[in-house]
Amino acid sequence: MPIRQLTDTMVNQIAAGEVIERPASVVKELVENALDAGATRIEVTTAGGGLNLIRVIDDGSGIPADELPLAIARHCTSKLADDIHDIRSLGFRGEALPSIGAVARLSIRSRARGANDGSEIAVVGGEISRPHPAPANPGTMVEVRDLFFATPARLKFMKGERAETSAVTDVVRRIAVAFPAVRFTLSGSDRTRLDLPAETGDAEGTLRRLARVLGEEFPANALEVEAEREGVRLAAQVSIPSFTRANALQQYAYVNGRPVRDRQIAMAIRAAYQDVLPRDRHAVAALFLTLDPALVDVNVHPAKADVRFRDPGLVRGLIIGAIRQALAGAGIRPATSAAA
Ligand code: ADP
Ligand code: MG
Repeated sequence: MPIRQLTDTMVNQIAAGEVIERPASVVKELVENALDAGATRIEVTTAGGGLNLIRVIDDGSGIPADELPLAIARHCTSKLADDIHDIRSLGFRGEALPSIGAVARLSIRSRARGANDGSEIAVVGGEISRPHPAPANPGTMVEVRDLFFATPARLKFMKGERAETSAVTDVVRRIAVAFPAVRFTLSGSDRTRLDLPAETGDAEGTLRRLARVLGEEFPANALEVEAEREGVRLAAQVSIPSFTRANALQQYAYVNGRPVRDRQIAMAIRAAYQDVLPRDRHAVAALFLTLDPALVDVNVHPAKADVRFRDPGLVRGLIIGAIRQALAGAGIRPATSAAA
């Protein structure tokens, strides 16, 4: 066989395999785009756990009609950073929309700030339609229908409506905590609903948003943690040992304002509590790490949820030390070995 180049659709489907794992990944990418566009209101609607429909409406900057074809072209981004090590936006790879368009029915309707009219473009399984004028409010509406219809092998891995819906809810909650000044709503065909009013953008707003997301009882059962070591700053709210969960889903971590899922952070939290919590209980926690962007790599995986710290030991030590100190300061001491 001669050597040939993959078609664009195949390349995009391969990328989708990494970026778009399940409906929640689509929601994450679309909500990140809305935030990067400066939205103050983001409305998410799903049907069938997001497999039938995901709709995200924002009031952000919108996309000019003549740029719509670029928005769905691979490696095209308006967020081009001068330096890949100094990325301030949530997106930067120009991969999400073309990937989604390759595996689903995608339509984007948008009206740029200052424009009188909106326009719409659609991509169905990689086939791009010509953009056409369409009535639109300022901002952007993205609809994704029949996710993975073009990649049936991936569709088979979906876990059913309830599991996918709860993954979607989890993603929205995590992002929402990082952007308290943005109003978020999430509605689905089932009962899962989220309505998070806009709070102030400061620490107090974050606390109120956390209470909305993690439960109104959380603040009264949480300890405040603050610490800094060698330029890495940690601010956190962590639960007292009587306020726990059966899993670690309510542990949220942010690095420079970006929601992350990091095994090392999760393990550090576990280690901090190891003497005061039974092994099958998990603290509720929100951790915010701030450090020089040059000391952390967010470009580890296309889904951008993983991070790699230049000095993982420093971060781990900071988290464990600060949480243990907060627990001790609250008079919480390990139960004597009798408990084991
Ligand atoms: P990235 O976010 O990495 O740039 P995407 O494929 O997610 O890549 O989006 C491509 C481009 O489309 C973005 O850079 C942005 O210019 C535009 N775009 C996507 N969604 C929105 C939105 N909700 N509002 C305004 N512009 C958007
Ligand atoms: Mg994006």
